[in-house]
Amino acid sequence: MKLDKPGQSALLKLSEVDIEIDRIKNVISKAVNSPELSAKSQELSELSGEVIAARTNFENLNMEARKADDNLHMVEERLARDNERLNQTSSPKDAQAIQSEIESLTLRKEGLEEVELEILERLEVAKQELEEISNKRENCSKELEELREKIQIQVDELKSQGRKLVADKETLTSKVPADILEKYKALATKQVAVGKIESRSCTACHMGLTANTIDALADLPEDEIGSCPECLAMIVR
Ligand SMILES: [Zn+2]
Repeated sequence: MKLDKPGQSALLKLSEVDIEIDRIKNVISKAVNSPELSAKSQELSELSGEVIAARTNFENLNMEARKADDNLHMVEERLARDNERLNQTSSPKDAQAIQSEIESLTLRKEGLEEVELEILERLEVAKQELEEISNKRENCSKELEELREKIQIQVDELKSQGRKLVADKETLTSKVPADILEKYKALATKQVAVGKIESRSCTACHMGLTANTIDALADLPEDEIGSCPECLAMIVR
């Protein structure tokens, strides 16, 4: 295959640009799929679940506390009414019945007070837990946001480098004839498609070449593209 010297250097450069574009694509994909990012997202979703559980627990206890308070008020109201009735009644029999009810209501009131106190203590603990886990979630969410921004900046920078390279690629492609370009594309899907001989090795596969091969490649006309016997890459001067 024949190609003049400027064409050959465009072909070599095209191969380098394509390799760099692939490298950038890889770095972008690694950055976007970074394990750090998915670990942080996972942590946030777990903490969100914990916040919901803590809030549900707090709200349930809050409801229990209100119910306990209502029950206590009912008993207190009945006690107040009974005391009033006791003061007003003139019947010893009624007084005895009322007195007995007051005694059992008083016991019930003490029991309810204990229950309410115990619920309020649990409510206090639940409130602290909810605050702690909400703060944790908040921090995690901020960290995730910062991480996303950091990655976005990195990706934007890489994309801008990539766009420059794609523009370079277009210019270089226009300098290479169609038949050579076709061969180049077929090779480039599998390997480094273009190389040179440097330090008695092929720069595409880095294999050392025999003196005979090197001589044969050197003997080719200047505008003839050679081929590496090891990797089949096109060899330019
Ligand atoms: Zn090679």
